[in-house]
Amino acid sequence: MSAIEQLIAGYRRFRGGYYEVNRERMIDLARYGQFPQVAVIACCDSRVDPAVITDSTPGDLFVVRNVANLVPPCEGEGIWHGTSAALQFAVCGLKVEHLIVLGHARCGGIRSLLEGPGDREDDKFITDWMSIAEDARKRALDRADLSTLEEQAHACELEAIGISLANLETFPWIRERIEQNSLHLHGWYYDMMSGDLLQLDSSSGKFVSLY
Ligand SMILES: [Zn+2]
Repeated sequence: MSAIEQLIAGYRRFRGGYYEVNRERMIDLARYGQFPQVAVIACCDSRVDPAVITDSTPGDLFVVRNVANLVPPCEGEGIWHGTSAALQFAVCGLKVEHLIVLGHARCGGIRSLLEGPGDREDDKFITDWMSIAEDARKRALDRADLSTLEEQAHACELEAIGISLANLETFPWIRERIEQNSLHLHGWYYDMMSGDLLQLDSSSGKFVSLY
């Protein structure tokens, strides 16, 4: 069975199973709209699905996915700001109460940032995008206690979450809602090898297990 045939078979199972069982909820979501209280900025990585990890159902999570779950700073230049547009809709339109930056282990985007830009033309968009986390790369490489690329990548993944959380506060409509206590930021980190989901503790700066 081809990959596409597998998807179609999966859709048919969903249509006859999950959709049928939850038909009323699906129709309510269509009729009354979505009211998620949480928006998640996650990586495009196929192994890190926020809805699966948190056992959420349709309507629960507003999900923005991009390479390495990065949030750019608020910028006036340029017009194609996909992540910023999605965040604006989540915060100003849907009025979510929580924004979660969901980082993860073995992130290909972070790995490419650490290894540095190649000379291949087909890396250009990725290299430019990953420069958002340049300070995370520097901090990870500056640490004398990290000797392997794996250790540096892990540190860089955690540091990048902090950069994205700081960048969220550069958007005036986000900062305003944080000050009003109507919006809360969270940094999470998922490791698919161990199944661990960690949360950044803002007072200690450490990631602690949510299990
Ligand atoms: Zn990733």
